[in-house]
Amino acid sequence: MRKKVEEVSAKLLKYQYHYYVLADPIVSDNEYDRIFDQLLDLEKKHPELSMKNSPTKRVGSDLNNTFAEMEHSVSVLSLDREYTGEGIAKWVDKISAAGNMKAEYVVEEKLDGASIVLYYKKGILETALTRGDGIRGNVVTENVRTIGQIPLVLPEKIDIAVRGEIFIKKSEFEKFNKKFENKYSNPRNLAAGSLRNLKSSTVADVPLNMFAYEGYYKGGKGHVEILSDLRTFNFPVNKNLGLFSGDQSFLAIIKNKLPGINTGPVDKIFDYIKAQTKKRENLDYEIDGLVIKVNGIDLREDLGETSHHPRWAIAYKFDSPAAETKLEDVVIQIGRNGRVSPVAILSPVQIAGSIVARATLHNQEYIDILELGIGDKVSISKRGDIIPAVEKVIEKDLDNPSIYKIRPDCPFCGTLFVKDGAHHFCRNEECPERIRRAIVFFVAKGQMDIDTLGEKTIEFLLKKGFIKCIPDIYSFDYSKLLGEEGFKEKKIDNIRNSIEESKGNSFATVFTSLGFAGIGKVAVADLIKYGFDSFEKIRETTETGNIEAFSDIPGFGDITARFLIEHFSDKDNLKLIDDLANAGLKVKADKKEGPEIEQIFTGETWVITGSFENFNPRAIAAEEIEKRGGKVTNTITSKTTYLLAGENAGSKLDKAKKLKIKIINEKEFTKMLI
Ligand SMILES: [Zn+2]
Repeated sequence: MRKKVEEVSAKLLKYQYHYYVLADPIVSDNEYDRIFDQLLDLEKKHPELSMKNSPTKRVGSDLNNTFAEMEHSVSVLSLDREYTGEGIAKWVDKISAAGNMKAEYVVEEKLDGASIVLYYKKGILETALTRGDGIRGNVVTENVRTIGQIPLVLPEKIDIAVRGEIFIKKSEFEKFNKKFENKYSNPRNLAAGSLRNLKSSTVADVPLNMFAYEGYYKGGKGHVEILSDLRTFNFPVNKNLGLFSGDQSFLAIIKNKLPGINTGPVDKIFDYIKAQTKKRENLDYEIDGLVIKVNGIDLREDLGETSHHPRWAIAYKFDSPAAETKLEDVVIQIGRNGRVSPVAILSPVQIAGSIVARATLHNQEYIDILELGIGDKVSISKRGDIIPAVEKVIEKDLDNPSIYKIRPDCPFCGTLFVKDGAHHFCRNEECPERIRRAIVFFVAKGQMDIDTLGEKTIEFLLKKGFIKCIPDIYSFDYSKLLGEEGFKEKKIDNIRNSIEESKGNSFATVFTSLGFAGIGKVAVADLIKYGFDSFEKIRETTETGNIEAFSDIPGFGDITARFLIEHFSDKDNLKLIDDLANAGLKVKADKKEGPEIEQIFTGETWVITGSFENFNPRAIAAEEIEKRGGKVTNTITSKTTYLLAGENAGSKLDKAKKLKIKIINEKEFTKMLI
């Protein structure tokens, strides 16, 4: 009798696989029902033979489920996101730059459904967990069993965890929703809600589908190979796939295994993304983006993950996340160059996991185009997932339907604003807010990096009249602070030390820290490279009035050249530069800042670990390597040329030894630099 039950089960499983997964039934509905009833009958008569994963259990029971929680045994982090092709290109570059030029990439559709993780033991579905918080998920096994496409028993007795997305086809959603008088807002909510429905029999009625997109089991080599295996294990796998690699023979092998897969060289990823984005509307299911994944499992392990997301995969999302909120107020900010920036003050709202309470409004034109007024209900997005922006007005404030106008004068100094192009400016060089912003910029991280002078300390020094401009930072007698609230001897010492230390900063750093409009890091580096390696030289050239001397520099246009001449004709600026020279700052490039430095590390990839006596922080060592044409990455791979190992080096040292990467100590490194 056991044999009979097994035989009928196998038959029914096969029918279900063809019906649900392949969408290509091999028997009539009547025949299907007949076999189904036959098995049901057998199981009723011989309950001891009824298997936990019998295909008859798909219809679900009427038992109320309680959703226990359980910890995931595989990593189910969410994905980092990008909203532009450029962002994806940078991500690919980063992986190549870490020495993985031969990485292969898979592009998949990102289904907008409910995430699920299926755990099988010896080929039998044991547990289905929702993604939950990434660490623990809800146990929804009973409901998942009702989904026809999900195999309950695999053809092989393996232990495997499978990640997938549960979704509802657009066409089926429409039909289903009609029955319920359009009660459900979208397929995604219905799918997610169904998984957590208390009655499995109700879930069985919802037309749920699944695509499997990750498999974790012993012996999985590469992602596409795993997807191909998942298919042989009877999981539904999305056919819309792209594989990009420089290895033609590899592409040919995979094409054989996964018919219909799109293949090409790595630089075709972006064309594929574009094409898939266009095709999105024609699909019978909702996707909200694409996922780009590194194919090699070894490389994935090398790249690792942060606490939030894996470094080997990224989501390309079609739409920036958005939220609705209210514009409470607009405040005026004045930049160090006098530019006026209106800033929206919003009722705090959560977008993509963070609270947004402010957003730049750029200028009056931007506000006029939006027809934006205080009190309006607005839509906020996070462009590139970072910068919040007001996208549109959803509803005007009917009590006061006005459009916000920037006030005519500077709230900090009372000077009338001047309009130049799209922006308003406070042209008062003595404007206390402009001075404050200039000082804050000068000492900021990435500039002179005087971290003991925080914004509060600077505000205090300005308020007390102890400093009035940037050079005062270097001439003020800080012992005068003794006795002021919050300034103890130790703190004052620290301020003095970091100010003294800042005098060691390069000429390029001093120059960019001045924050001259239009003259950023790149422009300064170019000036030095083309011989304008001191304030004196730039000043002399400015005095000749020869604009071509600057505009001939590759990358410089007339505009940058004019900015430069304007800054170096300004008496206040020239005094500022003189004062800084007198304070002992570098007003001339050191020899090694020039291009004559020998590029001895060209083509080499370095990893730095441990702590050093003379390179503290480690970034100093990285800078020395990069200045000499080398590349510095975080991860040891077979492509790493050297590991620079200091004291207390940890796992990277072990890995380098294992991969036989040459290890250099601080002493040897210092010798190489001379
Ligand atoms: Zn002002």
